[in-house]
Parts: sequence; structure tokens; C-alpha cells
Amino acid sequence: MKCKTCAELGLTSTLSVVSNFATLMCDHQYFDEQGRYHLHDPNTTSTVYRCSNGHSTVETSRRHCPTCKPKEAVPGGNVCHSVEQPMHETTSNDAQRD
Ligand SMILES: [Zn+2]
Ligand SMILES: [Zn+2]
Repeated sequence: MKCKTCAELGLTSTLSVVSNFATLMCDHQYFDEQGRYHLHDPNTTSTVYRCSNGHSTVETSRRHCPTCKPKEAVPGGNVCHSVEQPMHETTSNDAQRD
């Protein structure tokens, strides 16, 4: 990738990754009745880039559950809709581990 500001200005630059951090909510990982792994992560990961001309760019991304269909939104901490409801699902709110 290139610095967007430099691209707009017609400049060239190198781009350094300054930091890589995530919000601190607990993710929700579990195995369903079929033994399939689920990752329901409400966190957003932000990566900061800084170019050699002093511009900074922030990119954010999220992890998606590998078992649920990627095109579906994965609500944080909730049981995905593509799986049958377990008879005794644990609480969907595990943020209180904090
Ligand atoms: Zn730049
Ligand atoms: Zn899932």
C-alpha cells in the first residue's frame, strides 16, 4: 500500500507500521455441537502507518468467524444464526470476565 496523502500529492514515500492495537473487549470463542470452531470477536484492530513525509494513516479491520458465513455480520458475543440453538447455551455476555 501507499500513503494516500502522498498519492494525492504525487509524492513518493516509504510507509512504516507504527503500532498495531485492538480494543479490549473479550472475544467469544467456542465449539458448537458439531465440534466446529467459532470466533465471535467484537474487537476492532487498528493499524497506524506513518510515511516518510510525516503523514499518518489508520486502518481498521475486524476478525470474522471462520465457521459462520463471511457475508453475514457476526454480532459480538452472540450465537451465530447459522447454527442450531444449543439446549443450554452459556451466557452470551462474557465481557464481565474483565
Ligand atoms: Zn505521505
Ligand atoms: Zn460463528
